[in-house]
Amino acid sequence: MNISIVGTGYVGLVTGACFADLGHNVICVDVDEERIRKINQRIPPIYEKGLEELLERNVNEGRLRATKNLADSVRKTDISFICVGTPSGLLDYIDLKYIEEVSKGIGKALKNKNGYHLVVVKSTVVPGTTEHSVIPLLERYSVKKAGPDFGVAMNPEFLREGNAIEDFMNPDRIVIGGIDRRSNYYLLDLYLDFHCPILLTNPKTAEMIKYATNSFLVTKISFINEIGNICKSLGIDVYQVAKGLSMDSRISPKFLNAGIGFGGSCFPKDVKALVGKAKEVYYRPIVLNAALELNESQPLRLVELLERKIGSLKDVDVAVLGLAFKPGTDDMREAPSIKVIHNLLSKGAVVHATDPKAINEAKKIFGKHERLKFYTTAEDALKKCRYVLIVTEWDEYKKEDLYRGKIVIDGRRIDEARVADYYEGVCW
Ligand code: NAD
Repeated sequence: MNISIVGTGYVGLVTGACFADLGHNVICVDVDEERIRKINQRIPPIYEKGLEELLERNVNEGRLRATKNLADSVRKTDISFICVGTPSGLLDYIDLKYIEEVSKGIGKALKNKNGYHLVVVKSTVVPGTTEHSVIPLLERYSVKKAGPDFGVAMNPEFLREGNAIEDFMNPDRIVIGGIDRRSNYYLLDLYLDFHCPILLTNPKTAEMIKYATNSFLVTKISFINEIGNICKSLGIDVYQVAKGLSMDSRISPKFLNAGIGFGGSCFPKDVKALVGKAKEVYYRPIVLNAALELNESQPLRLVELLERKIGSLKDVDVAVLGLAFKPGTDDMREAPSIKVIHNLLSKGAVVHATDPKAINEAKKIFGKHERLKFYTTAEDALKKCRYVLIVTEWDEYKKEDLYRGKIVIDGRRIDEARVADYYEGVCW
């Protein structure tokens, strides 16, 4: 098939590269010229395992290219995937400006296109967005009717950053929420070779499935962190408790690693967006608000425990191991490291931060700060520091030698750090 992908971030570029590798002809569209240039030169604009090889192969073999020209890309393809960002807006609502801009653009292109075209919303959008925002804009600018003239479907993406290509190629399930049978079956055809269950539904339900999934995972993380906080006070190892929990066939062992909580581009923003949507229908979501509230304070427990151990942090050199919100990515959106570093700096500490991939992102977030220094290796960051906070569980930090003679507060349960002079976990 001929596919256009609008928005070439983590989701769009991975979707485009994977479909190209499966033999489809893919045009990636973005407004960011630097991104376009890099993709066409086979340089991944983001870090994602395996992406460089996919770009190399598919750009070379002519199945993948990037451009700024949305109208031309829509005209030359059969399906357009909308993969632009849906950041948090004011008061917990999501900001739909990118979705709206792209819907208008695709609508204008459809006006001059003959033949059927399917528009697929892959961005995460609150229930009702496809029907009440995307379709009206497509119809207004194309002067055509959704259904008879063009198809529309919502197809949420469940990939995890750091494992995005593997997740895209081998999903647990595919959810297709088409406005009609034709839209559903058109998209079903594209996913025919994927060996997983496929759920056909309507757009609003597909949108909600994505939010319900992320809300469930967030609740599970905050739940085990809360159990961990209680366990720590009672002298119980929460990891033993989690092991016992997960032996119950009703509870999967995943997302039961107690620590300093979740971050990233999706979990915090998606749960906030669902809270915002619930408010619109006069419902106050008690469980979701509690999960978010616990996650706000959890990273700060690291700094609190260090202070409790050594007293004032003023002018103290502290190493922060890990900046990315999780290993395997350079993404720092809503990363717990941001809260930890701001908190350390506010207490007068001198921060020596390291990450194998996210230093450039961190520099954009923190700018120049005389008390904050960045290092590409943990060994360099630790040179001047006796005090160490573990924030991201990169494999690079699973080495005993790093921790000998140090005082370590661990947010991610890295057992190698137990050789330290003093070791304490955030909730163990
Ligand atoms: P991102 O910020 O990495 O990428 C968005 C891209 O869209 C950027 O390259 C930006 O330049 C481009 N863009 C913005 N306006 C545009 C326009 N008018 N025309 C063309 N391109 C435009 O975002 P992302 O992380 O890939 O997320 C995209 C969507 O997918 C979001 O709704 C997100 O919630 C959802 N999602 C993300 C993940 C994830 O792990 N990142 C997983 C599942 C779902």
